[in-house]
Amino acid sequence: MRLLLVEDDSMIGEAVLDLLRAEHYAVDWVRDGELADTALRTQNYDLVLLDLGLPKRDGLEVLRALRARRQRMPVLIATARDAVQQRIDGLDAGADDYVLKPYDLHELLARLRALLRRAAGRAEPVYEHEGVSINPATREVTARGEPVVLSAREWAVLEPLIARPGLVLSRTQLEEKLYGWKDEISSNAVEVYIHGLRKKLGAGVIQNVRGVGYMVPRGSSS
Ligand code: CA
Repeated sequence: MRLLLVEDDSMIGEAVLDLLRAEHYAVDWVRDGELADTALRTQNYDLVLLDLGLPKRDGLEVLRALRARRQRMPVLIATARDAVQQRIDGLDAGADDYVLKPYDLHELLARLRALLRRAAGRAEPVYEHEGVSINPATREVTARGEPVVLSAREWAVLEPLIARPGLVLSRTQLEEKLYGWKDEISSNAVEVYIHGLRKKLGAGVIQNVRGVGYMVPRGSSS
């Protein structure tokens, strides 16, 4: 999953960035409202974590512009503990949820997971599909009841596919889920991770849709 972090405070931003990357999210970090707006116009994100008090353009303005463009990804706003009106304004401007600053980092992660699963059209916290089960909270993966260990990048490729069976994601879209990592991604990276996932989870779990991309096929047990 690829996230946009909008935060002008360097210390908070660095802490949240480290946390999110440790949790296998691909993250872009911008520090003012104008850069946030540019990022949102040019990249696809699965979720936005938006501070409201920002230089150059207020977070609320960024949010209103985003919703005016009919971009539908979940937005989690960050507000001060005593700023009730700000939270009300944020939710009414199209935010999906809020977190209070200073962050409780575990709560932040849980709220991210809840928003991402709702955005995938799911309510259940564990994704189960054709004998494969993944738990985004614990990152436990099993195949036919046996525990499986995935690398961070294998996880980053599998999660968006298994969250929405039947949805085809192109190689580029999957590469975007890997961006934000410190090193470069090689041109065949997605193929390599798909190959690894098939070996660990079973050949049928991810289907190649020729010329289009990859999907987890819809099945009887989904
Ligand atoms: Ca701020």
